Amino acid sequence: MLVRQILQSKPKQAVITVQPGTSISEAARLLAERRIGAVVVSADGKTPIGILSERDIVRELGRRGSGCLNDSVDVLMTKNIVTCSPADQADGVLEQMTAGRFRHMPVIEDGQMIGIISIGDVVAARLAELKMEKDALAGMIMGN
Ligand code: AMP
Repeated sequence: MLVRQILQSKPKQAVITVQPGTSISEAARLLAERRIGAVVVSADGKTPIGILSERDIVRELGRRGSGCLNDSVDVLMTKNIVTCSPADQADGVLEQMTAGRFRHMPVIEDGQMIGIISIGDVVAARLAELKMEKDALAGMIMGN
């Protein structure tokens, strides 16, 4: 299964981004409101310059307390983003996420971000694929 197929199986919506300089409290509000675990930091909505996940916020809250909520996302975001292409195999992406211990990956095509996939999206797509294979095999065996 390709990353492109996973993106196609998700409801169409633009990747949720925040501008550099956005406060951590604003980013946390967005994560809660949109029920997502990470937000991409981008000036133009297409070029990722960082990714901020709920883990980054929780880690800093644990270290410094609520003072970090006034920081800019630029301070806590991960700048070295691992991205994938729509033509990548989902299994490879899953391996990268597992090895790197992160759960979100922006999808880049022709230098522009066209989507984001989470580990949950990959697992859900893989389970759906396994179910189809199982049903097809059962059909062949039972003669349906
Ligand atoms: P997550 O598991 O995605 O909530 O993120 C765990 C940690 O990895 C956080 O520090 C994130 O900023 C970072 N992170 C999340 N996604 C990526 C990614 N695609 N590339 C690099 N770091 C990431």
